[in-house]
Amino acid sequence: MAGVEVRWDSPVATVGGKHYKKIIKATGVETVGELLGIYPRRYVRKGSLSELEELNEGDILSLVGEVVSSIQKPYQDRRTRRTAYRLEVRVRAQDGSLLLTYFDKNQHTADWRATRELPVGSVGVFSGRLKWFNNQWQLTNPASRMYGGKGSDLAEMPDLIPLYASVAGVTTWQFEDTIRLALDLVDDVPELLPPAVRQAEDLVAAAPALRWIHRPDTWAQKVSAEKRLKYDEAFVTQTVLARRRAAIEATVANPRPGVRGGILDRFDERLPFALTDGQRSVGQEISRELGRGHPMHRLLQGEVGSGKTVVALRAMLQVVDSGGQAALLAPTEVLAQQHQRSIEAMLGDLASGGLLGGAEEATRVALLTGSLGAAGRRQALAEAAGGEAGIVIGTHALLEERVQFADLGLVVVDEQHRFGVEQRAALSAKAGAPPHVLVMTATPIPRTVAMTVFGDLDTSTLTELPAGRGEVQTTVVPVQARPEWLERAWQRVREEVATGRQAYVVCARIDPDEDRAEQQEGRPPLHAVEELAPELAAGPLAGLGVEMLHGRMAPEEKDKVMQAFAAGHVDALVSTTVIEVGVDVPNATVMVILDADRFGVSQLHQLRGRIGRGGHSGLCLLVSAVDPTSTSMQRLVAVAGTRDGFELSRIDLEQRREGNVLGIEQSGGRSGLKLLSVLRDEDVIERARAAATAHLATDPDLSGIPELARSVRRLEESEQADYLEMT
Ligand code: ADP
Ligand code: MG
Repeated sequence: MAGVEVRWDSPVATVGGKHYKKIIKATGVETVGELLGIYPRRYVRKGSLSELEELNEGDILSLVGEVVSSIQKPYQDRRTRRTAYRLEVRVRAQDGSLLLTYFDKNQHTADWRATRELPVGSVGVFSGRLKWFNNQWQLTNPASRMYGGKGSDLAEMPDLIPLYASVAGVTTWQFEDTIRLALDLVDDVPELLPPAVRQAEDLVAAAPALRWIHRPDTWAQKVSAEKRLKYDEAFVTQTVLARRRAAIEATVANPRPGVRGGILDRFDERLPFALTDGQRSVGQEISRELGRGHPMHRLLQGEVGSGKTVVALRAMLQVVDSGGQAALLAPTEVLAQQHQRSIEAMLGDLASGGLLGGAEEATRVALLTGSLGAAGRRQALAEAAGGEAGIVIGTHALLEERVQFADLGLVVVDEQHRFGVEQRAALSAKAGAPPHVLVMTATPIPRTVAMTVFGDLDTSTLTELPAGRGEVQTTVVPVQARPEWLERAWQRVREEVATGRQAYVVCARIDPDEDRAEQQEGRPPLHAVEELAPELAAGPLAGLGVEMLHGRMAPEEKDKVMQAFAAGHVDALVSTTVIEVGVDVPNATVMVILDADRFGVSQLHQLRGRIGRGGHSGLCLLVSAVDPTSTSMQRLVAVAGTRDGFELSRIDLEQRREGNVLGIEQSGGRSGLKLLSVLRDEDVIERARAAATAHLATDPDLSGIPELARSVRRLEESEQADYLEMT
C-alpha cells in the first residue's frame, strides 16, 4: 500500500500490515479513525508482579519479564496413552518470578517452544489465567509476545504495554501492531471539542490523546489521554441529548390546562385516600407542564406500589377536562385489563359518560387489546375516533394504523422498558399536534444513568410508599444446602392461605420441554408452570385452589384467571413473569420464586413488588439450586438484603456491566461509551451536559466543528440512540 495516503477517514486497508483484514472482520471497523477508537483494555507495567496479592484463581494476569529457566518434562498422557510434553518456564519480572506451564502434544512443537520461542534469556510479555497449583501461582499456556531475540534487553521495552481485548481470535498483539502502524501514518486526527471547552476542562489535544491512549510512555500520559477521551464521549452523548431537548422546546403542543370543577376535581373529591406528598408535588409539576405550549416529556419513576397510576390518571383527567384524550399504553394484556378495571373502579360513575346515570362531567374508558372480539373492537375504535372515550387503554394494539383519536393530548406509557422508541413515536403520531408524554417506570434508575440514557426526559421520582403498606420479608431458600426449607416454603403458603391470604408461585419456564434443549450438565431441570401447577395441587398444596397463568394461554383465559385471582377465588397462582409488572392484588401476601437465580435483580425486585400491597406484611422466598458459594447466590442474598430499588438497580447495572446496559459491545465498535462510566463519572457527565448545551446555543447546527457534527450524527443514526432514548 506504499504511496497511499492514510487519513482519518481512509479505509482500514490503507494502513496495511498483516492483520488488518482479520481486524475488519472481527470488529467491523471501516475507517482508520474507527480503528484508532479501539482502545486498550488495560496496560502492563514492565516487571510488575505486585498485583499477585490481589488476584484470585482464574483472573487474567499479564506480566513482562525475562525467561530465566526452561525445563522440558515428557510425561504419559492418561487419555491418549502417548508421550506428551510439559514445559516449565520461569519468568523473572522486576519484583518476583512466576512459573509458566505449557503443554504440547508433539515433540516438534515442544522443542520449538523450548529452544526458539522461549529460550532462556529472552524477554517478552505473557498473559494468561492464574492457577494455584503445587503450592504456587502458575499461568497455563499463556499467550506471549517476545521482544527481540535471546539477549535482548528489558530496558529496550516500553514501560507500559497496552493490552487490547481479544475479539474473535484477534490477539492483543495483532491489534497493537496494526494500531501502531496507523498511528505512525495518520496525521490528521480531528478535534471534536470546542477550544474553549478543552481549555476550561484542561484537556490535552485529540492527537496526543490518541497516541497516549495506545502507546503511553508514562502512566501520566495514559491518565491524561483517558481523561480527554472520556470527556469526548460525554460531550458527544450530551450534545445528542441537548439537540433533542432543543427540538422538543421548539415544538408547539396544545396546552391542556384543565378546568376548575371538572372531572379531575370530582375525582379528587371522591378519592378514598389522601395523596402522598410525593404524588401531590409530582402531580403539580405535571399539571403545570400540561398547561404549557410545549410537549411535556417526563419520566415518572417510583418504587413498585408507590402509586404511579393515580398520578397518571389525574394527568389524564386534566387533559380530558381540556377537551382532549389520553392514551395509556401497557406492556401486557394482563396489565392493560387490570388498568382498565382499576381505573374504571376509581372513576365510578365518572366513567359512564353518555350513559344513563353517568355523572355530568363523566367520560368513558375504552380498552383496545389484541384479544378483543370484533364487536368490542369496533366499539372501542369508534369511541376513540369519536372522542367519547377520554381515556383509551391498550397494548400494542393501540399502535395499529386504524386506531384513531379525535384529539390525542397525552400519551402515558407504563413500564416503559418494554417499549422501543418507534412504538412511542407511532402512538404520538396519532395526535394532531405533538402530544404530551408521560413515561412511568418502576425500575429505578441511578441519577447519572437517567441523565445519560434518559437525558431527554425530565425525571420525577416518587420516593415514599403510601402509608399502611406491609413489610415484605425476603428469604433465600438454598435447596442445595437446605433441601428441607422447600417443604417449609410450601407450608408457609398453606399457612397464609389458611388466614385468608393468597400466594404467587413463579417459574422460569412454561413447559418442561423448553428446558431440555438448553439443559446443562449437572443442573437440575428448571421448574415449569405446566408441570409444577398439577404437582403442587396434588402434593404440597393439595386442597388449595391452584391455577396457572402464562403468556401462551389464550387472552380470555388469562383474563379469567387473573380476575378470579383478584376476586380471591384462587389461592395460589402458578405463573411465569407475566405478573412481573404492575399486577395489583392486595390480598396476595406470599410469593415463592423458583429457580430465582434465573431472574435479574430488577426483575426479582419487580416480582416481589406484587406482594405486601394491602397492609398485610408479605413474604418472598427465593428458591435456588445454585451452589451456595456462587455469585448467583450472592446476588440473591443481595436482593433479600434490601428493598431499596435504587440500590438494587445499581447492583444490577454493575453485574451486567455498563457496556451491556447501553447495548454496546466491549470491542469498541463504531460509537458508544468506551471509557465513560455512567455510574462513576457523574461529575464529568454533568459538566459535559452544561458545556454541550452552551455550545449548541452558539452553534446550533454544529457547522463550526465538523468532527463533532459527524460524531453526533453517527451516534444519532446508530442503534445506541435508541438506548439513549431508552428501550
Ligand atoms: P405502582 O406505582 O406500582 O404502579 P399503583 O399505582 O399500582 O403502584 O398503586 C398501588 C396501590 O396503591 C393501588 O392499589 C393504589 O390504589 C394504591 N394507592 C395509590 N396511592 C395511594 C395513596 N396515596 N394512599 C393509599 N393507597 C394508594
Ligand atoms: Mg403500575
